[in-house]
Amino acid sequence: MINKLKPQATGHSKESVERFAEQIATLLHYSPGSSLDDVVSNLGGEVGYVDFWDVNSAGGALIVDDKGRMKVNIPQHTSSVRDNFTIAHELGHYFLHFLPVRDNLKSGQVFEANRYGSDRVEWEANWFASAFLMPEHEFKKSYSSHKGNIFAVADHFSVSPRAAEIRAKRLQLD
Ligand SMILES: [Zn+2]
Repeated sequence: MINKLKPQATGHSKESVERFAEQIATLLHYSPGSSLDDVVSNLGGEVGYVDFWDVNSAGGALIVDDKGRMKVNIPQHTSSVRDNFTIAHELGHYFLHFLPVRDNLKSGQVFEANRYGSDRVEWEANWFASAFLMPEHEFKKSYSSHKGNIFAVADHFSVSPRAAEIRAKRLQLD
């Protein structure tokens, strides 16, 4: 039964995905370090914390129904900084992969992005998440005021030190 629409890669460059993510963050009035749950609820969606092994069986990590309502499922017992990245990643699927095809959704059909999609689709969602959570200008400012202390920078953006480190490399700060 074909009742699920799966994400397709946009094929857009890393630069344009990052630019897009920053624009969306601005439009949503997201300020670094604030609640991602609120972002999702402001979009009329909700975040569900489910048992790790149920994330996929619970219907995937992002489900959007034919009314455009989104449900983000993330595993319980993970750190909040990890959760932030996961939710931002799912928002990436929503804006990059769901919105362009929302009119193709038939009645009763759902859009579903699993945790383990194709590489390109997952990269795009990760690029989105990274730029959404750590906009370039503010990241550079924070990096310089914290003198490159990646833990302090990560703390400022409520991301893991690893995520901040990847962003710093991307922006050629280290
Ligand atoms: Zn994904």
